[in-house]
Amino acid sequence: MPSAELDHAIDHTLLSRLQSLLKQVCDASPEARALVEEELLAAESTTVIDLTDDDDIPTQATNGVKRSRYAICEQCKEEFDITENDDEACQHHTGELEVDWDGDFWADHDEEIHGTIDLDLADEYPQGFMWECCNELGDSEGCETGPHIADESFKPEAKKRRVWE
Ligand SMILES: [Zn+2]
Ligand SMILES: [Zn+2]
Repeated sequence: MPSAELDHAIDHTLLSRLQSLLKQVCDASPEARALVEEELLAAESTTVIDLTDDDDIPTQATNGVKRSRYAICEQCKEEFDITENDDEACQHHTGELEVDWDGDFWADHDEEIHGTIDLDLADEYPQGFMWECCNELGDSEGCETGPHIADESFKPEAKKRRVWE
């Protein structure tokens, strides 16, 4: 049974330590390994055309290779499940985010006093930015729809130790 103390410890432990701990747990317990494999791995599917039926419609077949089930999408930056990725799964923008100088969002912003206006502010003030692909505001929904694309180079960021100032 999970305990509140253990939950608390897990929530407050570095990601890198949890990763090595999970590997140790998988080595120590076949049940744990099976559970983790089921959650984190998915069979890789390949598209094949079965010539024995006459519809020529490609079917998905598994080739026995397993790969990570969850990936981060390089388009929308969200985590997705590769077993549930279809042509409408990902709404994203194809262009870059730009400062919306023409709108009046920044009219009262004095860079000398309030700081430089740049992309670092986009998370905090999406209404002050525009997507160059569709001229919509920074917090608008993606203008393109398609399947998620896995970012193969993604690694979860290890939490940095806080620097006291
Ligand atoms: Zn767009
Ligand atoms: Zn996506």
